[in-house]
Amino acid sequence: MLRLTSPPALLRGRGIPREAVGPWLRLTARHIGESRERGAAESVPREPFVLAGLAGDHPLLSDLRRRVKLQIPAAGLGEEGFAIEIPPQHVIIAADAPAGVFYGCQSLLDIADTQDGTIELPCRVIADWPLLKRRGFHLMAVSRLGMPAIESLLTEILPRRRVNAVVVEINYNYEFRSHPEVREDNCFTREDCRRMVELARANFITIIPQMNCLGHQSWQGVPLGLLRAYPELDETAGLPEIFERPRPHCWCPSNPKVMPVVRDLIGELIDAFDAKEFHCGMDEAFYIGKCAKCSKSTPDRLFAKSVRELHAYVTGRRGVQMLVWGDRLLDAKAFGYSEWEGSITGTHPAAEKIPKDIIICDWHYGERKEFPSIPYLQSLGFRVWPTGWNTRANAENLATYALLHHTHRLEGYMASSWTSLIPLRGGFEGDAESLKVKNIAGVVEATDAGLSIAWRGRR
Ligand SMILES: [Zn+2]
Repeated sequence: MLRLTSPPALLRGRGIPREAVGPWLRLTARHIGESRERGAAESVPREPFVLAGLAGDHPLLSDLRRRVKLQIPAAGLGEEGFAIEIPPQHVIIAADAPAGVFYGCQSLLDIADTQDGTIELPCRVIADWPLLKRRGFHLMAVSRLGMPAIESLLTEILPRRRVNAVVVEINYNYEFRSHPEVREDNCFTREDCRRMVELARANFITIIPQMNCLGHQSWQGVPLGLLRAYPELDETAGLPEIFERPRPHCWCPSNPKVMPVVRDLIGELIDAFDAKEFHCGMDEAFYIGKCAKCSKSTPDRLFAKSVRELHAYVTGRRGVQMLVWGDRLLDAKAFGYSEWEGSITGTHPAAEKIPKDIIICDWHYGERKEFPSIPYLQSLGFRVWPTGWNTRANAENLATYALLHHTHRLEGYMASSWTSLIPLRGGFEGDAESLKVKNIAGVVEATDAGLSIAWRGRR
């Protein structure tokens, strides 16, 4: 047992930025005081120390890296893997890249027994690495009042769970300059977005902004930004509801006024987040091919046309990786999926008609054992990112099935929240009142289960 009552010297390798040891710095500051830094090239001190770096930074690091060679995959530790040794007097964290040191520090947090005034670490050697390269989390960001919760999620809650990508669903909740008429109340500012990006980068997280395109243009019968400002762009403007309970409305994919506005909005979000990836939503688009113009085409052609137009801007013009939800590309009947997670309106042949460099987020929230769309979409040539939600069985079954169908086209596993941010943060922090809010306990449990499998499988 290594028992620390004062901050040990921190010896950080030359290639390791300060952010990579951030979790350890925060832990010591909280319990035993600010860490004192020294160069890793110097001789090691007699008192307890933490040495973190790449093999070339110090002989103790190269020695540990060599000793764990037989425990790790033949391909090596990768960007995010690490080895830790805790002999009685010090801690050594060896990795092949800065992210590995970061996850090594997270692992120390997992095994540390802390009280104010002491940190105890059990003596052991650990070699650990992720099975799936991307562990995602989907976040609904409906108002800037949620910024404090977003900050906790990006700096503490999600990094502890090894999340390295966060899809932030912004929709019209941004201070758009090109079309201020579509803004929602309490929308995020450009500075808020910059702040999210900075915090995410310091925690080895990529932010992927999202704006729902085509579908989800209304919620519970109320039009959102675009259709509120331009009701004439509604695919079913003036038409009676087809479904007993109104479904989210779509914009008209044939109206030439839509795409110029949408390109401006997406462009602003890409700039605000300095984004290399952008999620266009496109889920649950039920009202498709209903207006006089669209009814001359077919649902699959209309859907594919929308995807191609968005792709021409996002990837073609901006050079940004595009993501969409997968439900409209799946034949619900053939796969045995519900009409929400698969299509019953004839849109699914669009899967054959759209660019294959789009990442498909294949969401399923039921507890079935098999999710045949995961291999199917990969077989068409897409990269696929399975996404689960709010029960342990759903997350475990989906993440396990993803691992069974793990080819180079499997992106990873994504957890999703679909709840408000403030109780979500409380739930992750174990607050009893927050955990009573609808879905929160389930989301917390499912997120932990799914992300754990994405990192270590059933190891
Ligand atoms: Zn139309």
